[in-house]
Amino acid sequence: MSTVIDGKAFAAGLRERVADAVKEIGSQHGIKPGLAVVLVGEDPASQVYVRNKGKQTVEVGMDSFEHKLPIDTAEKDLLALVEQLNNDPAVNGILVQLPLPKQIDESKVTNSISVDKDVDGFHIENVGKLSIGEDSLIPCTPAGCLMLLKDHVGDLTGKNAVIVGRSNIVGKPVSMLLLRESCTVTIAHSRTRDLPSVCRAADIIVAAVGVPELVKGDWIKPGAVVIDVGINRVEGEDGKNKLVGDVDYQAAMEVADGVTPVPGGVGPMTIACLLRNAVIAACRQHGVPVPAVIL
Ligand code: NDP
Repeated sequence: MSTVIDGKAFAAGLRERVADAVKEIGSQHGIKPGLAVVLVGEDPASQVYVRNKGKQTVEVGMDSFEHKLPIDTAEKDLLALVEQLNNDPAVNGILVQLPLPKQIDESKVTNSISVDKDVDGFHIENVGKLSIGEDSLIPCTPAGCLMLLKDHVGDLTGKNAVIVGRSNIVGKPVSMLLLRESCTVTIAHSRTRDLPSVCRAADIIVAAVGVPELVKGDWIKPGAVVIDVGINRVEGEDGKNKLVGDVDYQAAMEVADGVTPVPGGVGPMTIACLLRNAVIAACRQHGVPVPAVIL
């Protein structure tokens, strides 16, 4: 029987550390970080996510700026808002909630955010820096996966890590982070041959696929650690909707050394890492050291 890797508890601890860091830079340097979140349209999931971000931003002592734009917003108007936020000294971090409506080019908007304020870590320059191992703002969900892994495993050097999924927002950045930790990284995807065998070789599996319970118990090597990024809404036996990950959790718990649950695993880490990124961005913009409590 394995350990539940409790992301909810870890994220709560991280938010407390972020709040301590905010107090420290406030008292020592007079800095109050500000995080701006832009939402275009009324997607219900995005609305909940943006509301939670705003609430948690204020709870850790930062300023929260929310900008809600209608679904038919023109690309040039969104770019003008981003430019305004880039030039606003009260705003240290900018996040444009994805997905954006079809009339707007996502990559154009992402790359219009100032590299120093790109708290999502999706700007092409931050992506490039991550891949060559330079200091950058690191995407939040991948950063959360790494923190949970290091907390559970300790030194990751030499571990065989299989990342299932090659998206730009999860799979690829997680792979880069684990490579940086000197893991031997395999990136699997929908064209991978014999995925079960590939997974069976892993000391660490990170599943970021979007297919409910794809990774079965007998794909997991005894003693491996499993990080489940997937969030899938499925109908439960009682006919009600429930959330499941990309891993068969019950079966994984029988064989693995540690598994993140869904919900309560990677999910809560994302916003906590976003808040941490906002503090890091504010410190860099003001040329002051990042408080050790969040390093
Ligand atoms: P994408 O749809 O962008 O990417 C999915 C990846 O999985 C692709 O690389 C795809 O391969 C691969 N894939 C799909 N089906 C299979 C299969 N049968 N076997 C092997 N690989 C497969 O998803 P995201 O990376 O954006 O998200 C993945 C999951 O993580 C989703 O459930 C999402 O909701 C969740 N998520 C959770 C977050 C959080 O916890 N905060 C944040 C972001 C995402 P190919 O490239 O070949 O098509």
